[in-house]
Amino acid sequence: METRLSKRLATVADYVPQGARLADVGSDHAYLPLFLVEQDRIEFAVAGEVVQGPYQSALQNVEQAGQSDKISVRLANGLAAVEQVDRISTVTIAGMGGRLIADILEAGKDKLVSVERLILQPNNREDDVRRWLVAHDFQIIAEEILEENDKIYEILVAEKGKSDLTADQLRFGPCLLIDQSATFQKKWLKELDKLAYALEQVPLERQSDRSAISQKIQQIQEVLHVSK
Ligand code: SAM
Repeated sequence: METRLSKRLATVADYVPQGARLADVGSDHAYLPLFLVEQDRIEFAVAGEVVQGPYQSALQNVEQAGQSDKISVRLANGLAAVEQVDRISTVTIAGMGGRLIADILEAGKDKLVSVERLILQPNNREDDVRRWLVAHDFQIIAEEILEENDKIYEILVAEKGKSDLTADQLRFGPCLLIDQSATFQKKWLKELDKLAYALEQVPLERQSDRSAISQKIQQIQEVLHVSK
C-alpha cells in the first residue's frame, strides 16, 4: 500500500531534492521517508526516533513495506542517529516546537558539516529556528505557510550561506514577509487578537509587561499595514 502524506508533510517532501540521502529526525511512523522512497525520490534515508513507541511503529512500517534496505530506522536522540558513512545530504525535522528543533540542530551541528539542505517545520517559535540558522551560516532559501485542520504551519528551507535577518524577518520569515499570503495574514491577525486580549488582562501598573506586548502588537500592525 502506498504511503499518503498530510498536506504539511507533502510540502516538506516537495523540498527534498531528487536523489537525496535523507535524515528524518523525529520520524514517528516513518511516513515521510517511506513516501519518498516509494516515489523514487531519494536514494537512502535514516529515520531517527528518540521514543520507543514511535521508533517501533517506524520500524514495523518500514519492514512491512519491504524498504529496510533503503530506510534505516534508528533509536537515537536527534542527529546522533546519523553517522558519517551515511553521507546524508538533506535533513528534515518536522512537527516539533521551534526551540526543540534549534536544540537538536545545536547538539548535532558536527553532523551537519556536509549536509546541503535543511527542511524544518516548527510548530511554534519559528524565530528561534531562524536565529539558529543565521548564527550557523545557513541561509533561508524558501519558506511556506499553509493551513491544515485549522492549524497554520510554517516550513523553512535552508542551505549553506551567510545571511543577516532583521527583527521583522526573524519573526515573520524573510520569504513569507515578501509574499504576505492570505494564510500569513490570517496567522498574524489571529496573533494580533491574542495579544490585544492579553494586553487587556495586564494591570495598568505593570508597565514593562504592557509595553512589551504593545511593541509586539505594533510590529504586527506595521507588517500587515493595519491601523490601531
Ligand atoms: N516528523 C513527524 C511529523 O512531522 O509528522 C512526527 C512528528 S511527532 C509530533 C514528533 C516526533 O519527534 C515524536 O515521535 C517524538 O518522539 C520525536 N522526537 C522528539 N524529540 C526528538 C529527538 N530529540 N530526537 C528524535 N526524535 C525526537
